[in-house]
Amino acid sequence: MGTLYIVATPIGNLSDLTFRAKEILESVDLIACEDTRHSGILLKHYDIKKPLLSFHSHSGTAKVDKIIAHLENGDDVALVSDAGTPGISDPGYVLIQAALEADAEVIPIPGPSAVITALSASGMPTDKFLYLGFLPVKKGRQTLFKEMAESKYTVVFYESPHRLVKTLSQLQDFLSKDAKVSVAKELTKIHETYYRGTLEEVLEKLPENIKGEYVVAIKNN
Ligand code: SAM
Repeated sequence: MGTLYIVATPIGNLSDLTFRAKEILESVDLIACEDTRHSGILLKHYDIKKPLLSFHSHSGTAKVDKIIAHLENGDDVALVSDAGTPGISDPGYVLIQAALEADAEVIPIPGPSAVITALSASGMPTDKFLYLGFLPVKKGRQTLFKEMAESKYTVVFYESPHRLVKTLSQLQDFLSKDAKVSVAKELTKIHETYYRGTLEEVLEKLPENIKGEYVVAIKNN
């Protein structure tokens, strides 16, 4: 039985691949990745040539079965996502569960994750935090906003550039005026920026044309 490695990859800066991640990617028989073109850029940068198999959120059970068959055949498989740690708001869970059920060893290779990277520079308490992944687009937003407002802990979530201003504006109805907010943009990339302050201050600081990737952290109580 082969081993399934859960390999964290950079969230922007290609130099953030760990030595061990590189060694594992060089040693496995197969790399399962979300987007073969996207992961191809990282692998080319490190001159790693391995067979790639696409595995994303819409991959059905047939893909999972195929990867499990490789493991049963004795192949070692690395699972990578487009960025960061597989399984953290990224596909992985179904495959990892199937691999464990098939008695394969599952070994994580730690590395970058946007949520931890953003929290580490947020200036907010990080001994306990509540991670909410992506907020729902339609139903359930108000309930989550209430939970955020009531939380004793730092709350952190991912937000798309199209919804960032809407979400922060809606939060104004739930959080206290002096709640702390940290919006991290394009972590580890050329346009890396932090907007920190109250909701009102952060909304004022944000540019008109919002692009890029964002992590929001808030501390209300
Ligand atoms: N598995 C990934 C991880 O461990 O960070 C998260 C994947 S999730 C599909 C992608 C979201 O993570 C983006 O929409 C954005 O909110 C956040 N993200 C990823 N890379 C980022 C970066 N460099 N800067 C800010 N946010 C980032």
